[in-house]
Amino acid sequence: MLADIAAAGGAEDAEDDTAGAEAPQEKARRSARKPLPDSLLRRDVGHLPAGGCSCRACGGALRKVGEDVTGILECRPGRFEVVRHVRPAFSCRTCEAITQAAMPALPIERGRPGPGPVSGRAGRDLLEPMAASIGRHALAGPRLHADDTPMAMLAPGKGRTRTARVWADLRDDRPFGGTDLPAVLYGSRPDRKGEPPQRRLRDFQGLLQADA
Ligand SMILES: [Zn+2]
Repeated sequence: MLADIAAAGGAEDAEDDTAGAEAPQEKARRSARKPLPDSLLRRDVGHLPAGGCSCRACGGALRKVGEDVTGILECRPGRFEVVRHVRPAFSCRTCEAITQAAMPALPIERGRPGPGPVSGRAGRDLLEPMAASIGRHALAGPRLHADDTPMAMLAPGKGRTRTARVWADLRDDRPFGGTDLPAVLYGSRPDRKGEPPQRRLRDFQGLLQADA
């Protein structure tokens, strides 16, 4: 699922041509990714080899031969930014060994969202495919527990609240020995009509449990 987000929302990769050969199909796959929007702020973080400016193998002097740049989508309160992890690659002048810092460990490999919390309106593009994916998973299980409840919602300018409806569709088969990941799909409507369960659960094939 999170790999889908990488495909949709984006990794940003750039490799210096001198940094090493890459199979053409690999390059094509990378460039097929949708790039992160130019409008996002960029912040560079450099990663130098731990050994400093001498070769780990022979102690010889290093020269820069290229760099890898990996763009990671980070979430700050109310906004997103792209942290460009820049990792220069060095070649030893004596033995030609290549030295380069490793990428820092990411919380979600391949997915490329950074560790910050996802928030703000800008998160919608990222969150909607994630929510849809969770929803598909929740509704694909053998058993679903559905519940809904009315909830008072502020109605600005009207001097009163309106009755909205919130529902939850829970997939959790662990009490029955299931090993699939549990998931909850939440939804809401700003009126009391509620999302008709017939439509929401149209494709659900399993056992539906609900409080009458
Ligand atoms: Zn060397």
